[in-house]
Amino acid sequence: MVQLRLCARILARRGRLQLPVRMSHSSSSDPYDVVVIGGGHAGTEASAAAARMGSRTLLLTHKLETIGEMSCNPSFGGIGKGHLMREVDALDGVCARCCDVSGVHYKVLNRRRGPAVWGPRAQIDRQLYKKAVQRELHSTPNLEIRAAAVDNILIEDDTPDSLSRRCGGVLLANGEVVRSRSVVLTTGTFLRAHINIGLEVRPAGRIGDAPAKALGEAIDRLGFRMGRLKTGTPPRIAKSSIDFSKLERHDGDDPPMPFSFLNNQVWLPTKEQLPCYLTYTTPKVSDIVRDNLHVNRHVTEEITGPRYCPSIESKILRFGAKVHQVWLEPEGLDSPLVYPQGISCTLPHEQQVELVHAIQGLEKAEVVQPGYGVEYDFIDPRELYPTLETKRVQGLFFAGQINGTTGYEEAAAQGIIAGANAAGKTIHKDGKQLTISRTEGYIGVLIDDLTSLGTNEPYRMFTSRAEFRLSLRPDNADMRLTQKGYEFGLVSQHRYQHFRQTEERLQSAIDSLRKLRKHTHYWRQALDLPKAKTSVEKTAFEMLSIPADNITVEQLIGLHPKELSWLADDRNLAERIKIEALYSFFVEEQQRDVEDVRREERLTIPADIDYFSKTLSLSNEERQKLTLIQPQTIAAASRIQGVTPSTIVRIMKYVKKAEAKA
Ligand code: FAD
Repeated sequence: MVQLRLCARILARRGRLQLPVRMSHSSSSDPYDVVVIGGGHAGTEASAAAARMGSRTLLLTHKLETIGEMSCNPSFGGIGKGHLMREVDALDGVCARCCDVSGVHYKVLNRRRGPAVWGPRAQIDRQLYKKAVQRELHSTPNLEIRAAAVDNILIEDDTPDSLSRRCGGVLLANGEVVRSRSVVLTTGTFLRAHINIGLEVRPAGRIGDAPAKALGEAIDRLGFRMGRLKTGTPPRIAKSSIDFSKLERHDGDDPPMPFSFLNNQVWLPTKEQLPCYLTYTTPKVSDIVRDNLHVNRHVTEEITGPRYCPSIESKILRFGAKVHQVWLEPEGLDSPLVYPQGISCTLPHEQQVELVHAIQGLEKAEVVQPGYGVEYDFIDPRELYPTLETKRVQGLFFAGQINGTTGYEEAAAQGIIAGANAAGKTIHKDGKQLTISRTEGYIGVLIDDLTSLGTNEPYRMFTSRAEFRLSLRPDNADMRLTQKGYEFGLVSQHRYQHFRQTEERLQSAIDSLRKLRKHTHYWRQALDLPKAKTSVEKTAFEMLSIPADNITVEQLIGLHPKELSWLADDRNLAERIKIEALYSFFVEEQQRDVEDVRREERLTIPADIDYFSKTLSLSNEERQKLTLIQPQTIAAASRIQGVTPSTIVRIMKYVKKAEAKA
């Protein structure tokens, strides 16, 4: 306490504190174990995680009513992002369960490809999601929630370069000091943020929300390396003004797949799901964008925006007059609004209306809220350890968009790790930490990429970023992470019991299938498959693993009811067994590729390598990056963000083949 008062006085002396300092600790004079700043997606998971672990936790956020707000698209999940959600759920997080009670259109993306890269996704009712998150947080034991703006981080030892600098709490905008052992900062796009519409610039973290200016300055003063990023959101359209008769209708999945391992089904019956509609931009949209660059500040300034969720302006400037997809997505069951995904833009309001009217089906559409861009400070994530604690200040953690990522799922994934480690600081006296490796989860890939490579553009997750994606599947996230989370104290007894039962049933099912060993002649005849010339012994599990034969668990149950009928009532289990079997061989093969790359890390890539060669079949992004960076070795190439592990294997084979020919 004395140190903190001293620190506050020092800050005041240096002109850092604008307001009189009052020491106040809400209900008790003991410091909180964990204070989380920001009630977005990272803050929700961080505060719930810390409280679940038994830490006395306080969530401080600007407005109670915006806790769980989806700032942009009304959807969760997708390719890579769905994996993150399943992993957050496996660690007993909040977002997946809340999506299972608020989705209005559930669809697994990438179904045509293997289950390892399926992307569970749902359109969400914004209001229902927010309500579910708020209900969850308000009923979490050990968690207090307060509406307040945080202006500063309190440092116990204010020696600028001292490694012993420790975080001691936060200072609120009203001058109140809140003491805590750890602080998790999850302020998203708010630090020194402003929004842009046309040439208009307004200080704001999100439309209708003030920015966090003082806090941005405070973080800067602490010496953190910071940068500027930008993102944007499309105009919202009145549903009643859209001519749906001209558009392609897309329905959700039947049956919908839940996000959470705790649920066998989602809340909404299939027939009540809402459809999405697809339309396209026209050449007129490109003309409007090009003709109005002089009144579009967000686009012309040189701050990096999202590569993977770009504005309509960047798509047109990059790809010319090409036609671009626009998905019309429901904002909620009773919402009068539609979200036009694909036309995020920052033109002046009038030109946005013109642009919208140039799209088929939207000729008479009413623009209820204009699109806008946000420009904000982020912190170089190389300032962090893999626990998400900062290297400069002990006990201070950063999570979410503040670390240079984009997306709710990326934020949630960081939030749960930061919250758990912040709580772990007081709970685990032996210094135990929760880190996830690249071999264990997409959360590991995300945090490793950020903390070791940093980022210079908003980072989003893709399956291509993971080297071990055949084993890091959405279906098995619980098997990879729940035990680990439980041992750290992050996973509740209820979740753990559920997981153990699933694990036991899965193992018993696989054992039963492995015990059924027959000649392939038998299997092929009994399952009505084309005859093969030779016959070898194979187990029922091995038969399931042959992709070409596409045998189902149900067929095997029909063939051997005595041994397998107990599986018949559990559709989810049957699907999991099938996926396990399908991947068992490929996972071993993947491991061999990984070892090959490791052995050949020092292989020199010739300077004249042709990255445009068809044999290499690289994506445009990979060509651009490899040509620019010119990595000299396989190891260097594999560290370039956006270059996939399978590309690395192809480059390695290409170089070795060229060497052998020479
Ligand atoms: P947020 O969800 O932004 O939450 C931050 C919270 O911190 C807020 O509740 C805020 O009130 C609170 N806060 C901030 N400062 C303080 C303070 N000093 N004191 C107390 N509380 C504070 N993602 C996509 O995937 N696709 C998109 O197309 C996309 N477009 C976007 C467009 C816009 C305009 C914006 C704003 C965001 C967009 N995002 C998009 C990003 C997505 O919204 C974020 O990635 C995600 O919400 C980040 O979660 P977070 O928890 O880090 O921060």
